[in-house]
Amino acid sequence: MGFCMGVRRAVKLALDEAAAGSKAVYTLGPLIHNPQVLEDLKDRGVEILEKGRGDLTGATVLIRAHGVSPRVEKELLAAGARIRDATCPRVKASQMKARSLTRAGYCLFLAGEKDHGEVIGITGYAPGCVVAACPGEAEAAAEKRCRQSPAAKAALLAQTTLSADEYEAIGEGIRKWFPKLKIIDTICGATRDRQNALKELCGQVEAVIIAGGKTSANTRRLLSIAQSLGTPAWIVENEGEIPGEIGRYALVGLSAGASTPDSAIDTIERALQAL
Ligand code: SF4
Repeated sequence: MGFCMGVRRAVKLALDEAAAGSKAVYTLGPLIHNPQVLEDLKDRGVEILEKGRGDLTGATVLIRAHGVSPRVEKELLAAGARIRDATCPRVKASQMKARSLTRAGYCLFLAGEKDHGEVIGITGYAPGCVVAACPGEAEAAAEKRCRQSPAAKAALLAQTTLSADEYEAIGEGIRKWFPKLKIIDTICGATRDRQNALKELCGQVEAVIIAGGKTSANTRRLLSIAQSLGTPAWIVENEGEIPGEIGRYALVGLSAGASTPDSAIDTIERALQAL
């Protein structure tokens, strides 16, 4: 439960930079979609880099877990920034794969959302890469590419958070035009693992508390999974929100969304144990 490896690593790098007393520390966009964490980072001197800031001499800029394109890195260096790269190793592996396949002459497809930071970063390593968000879009793009160069070799990568079913369907769409399509599994199981762990937990307890933000999509998804299994469940942002009726249950489980910090989980756990 809680932070995935990539987010945990990025937050740790930011905290390490702040603790090391680096002069001006910025993140390239919000490090994580969790207001408590962002507020805490701000208190420690880690701020979000404003768009259009010119001279970054002496500043440290932390690249977020979903990475950036080589062009953005170059621009930061040219502006005088020192870069701390918190790109998740799984995303970095996708970037390197995209680059090597493009260099090897593959016509590269990437299944994912065009506007997502991770996708924008990966395509920066693979000029000409085609991004497709759904099977129809993938098939149409594949047809166009196939008509342009019928003998081309084709390969497909996925945005790390894509579902396996979506990836399969997008691959099928491209295969109609490139039957020898090379499909590389770049999906990260972090979200799926958390959901499976919660399903297992629901079979062992009478009720579940899910630590996390009420506006967080993955936290709300955990709530609906527990409820669909018939387990009474509540989302709790802090210990003060633990519902009184939880005292009716002898065995209570605790889960947490992917953007919930350890400190919040620990505080809620201690409060539950003290009931
Ligand atoms: S690739 Fe997986 S581990 Fe890395 S940031 Fe994304 S969800 Fe987290």
